[in-house]
Amino acid sequence: MGQQPKVYVTRSIPEAGLGVVREACQARVWQEKLPPPRQVILEEVSDCDGLLCLLSDEVDATVMDAGELRVISQYAVGVDNIDLEAATARGIPVGHTPGVLTEATADLTFTLLMAAARRIPEGIEKVQSGAWQTWEPMGLLGAQVWGATLGVIGLGRIGTAVARRGRGFQMRVLYHDTEHKWKLEEELGLIYASLEELLGEADFVSVHTPLLPETQQLIDEGALRRMKPQAILVNAARGEIVDTQALVRALEEGWIAGAALDVTDPEPISADHPLVRLENCIVVPHIGSATVRARERMAEMAAQNLLAGLRGERLPYCANPQVYQVIDG
Ligand code: NAP
Repeated sequence: MGQQPKVYVTRSIPEAGLGVVREACQARVWQEKLPPPRQVILEEVSDCDGLLCLLSDEVDATVMDAGELRVISQYAVGVDNIDLEAATARGIPVGHTPGVLTEATADLTFTLLMAAARRIPEGIEKVQSGAWQTWEPMGLLGAQVWGATLGVIGLGRIGTAVARRGRGFQMRVLYHDTEHKWKLEEELGLIYASLEELLGEADFVSVHTPLLPETQQLIDEGALRRMKPQAILVNAARGEIVDTQALVRALEEGWIAGAALDVTDPEPISADHPLVRLENCIVVPHIGSATVRARERMAEMAAQNLLAGLRGERLPYCANPQVYQVIDG
């Protein structure tokens, strides 16, 4: 039997995937709670054939050139922490985990939307602090979700799953994407809108694009000023899609009513950051895919991608399929 390939795994992931990797490879696994420092990654990959990484690891050309990686397998669907162009140029396929975290992330998005609409954190705080004394005819009035207008920016896998939930609440659902999605429009009763129209009409704006150069700060001051004063912004995509400084001002000055964020820029965000302190903003620690089921499936897919790459096979879930033009010449 030949020598097993060497791989570096940048954090302990569910056994459903890690067990498979350990069986087929000589795997070194970073066991700490916080991500490995960059220097550690650079040293670890120097003799590795494969890297299994997380969205908190920056995987750029320097990391790729520190060794002779044959595959990079990301334990996430978003791959904005990986320089895909550099990987493609070097003939390194990059795996990711689309689909299996869609419903979990859509559930979390809707949880955030409803928690912000109905001011749940303020309600909990009121009870826990002993400030709640009686049923209040005017206390903690929020926004009605049922029948309101939802604006989905990025009608991909997660955006569509959120739109379905919105339709379940009899919401009027507008969407904006790079293209019309005629079939989904018809199937779910969705309405295509320009970004400006969507921002101006939606009671809830939910962001679901990947982080790309075109979507970096897509929700900037102009976008926030276009939203209705009673509107709520939900972001469970990537923090950098929203201009943090502009959002703080929007929430402080009442351009919009509230925000609910699973992702922030910076991330992690400090406890004394205005977004964390503001009463009309909910921040949770990037838990979109954090269900037992989704994380197990993600681990299995990440392992499948890693092993396929090590065997020289096409990755079942590849984030840079154009790499095969480079590999196949
Ligand atoms: P997806 O299926 O690729 O959907 C993204 C959609 O956004 C696509 O329809 C895409 O259109 C569209 N889009 C791209 N650029 C746009 C733009 N400038 N304006 C409007 N729409 C645009 O991806 P997904 O699986 O739904 O995931 C979306 C993102 O969610 C991921 O990239 C990741 O960053 C984030 N995410 C977060 C969590 C979490 O834990 N909070 C979990 C999972 C994923 P095209 O196909 O034409 O480009």
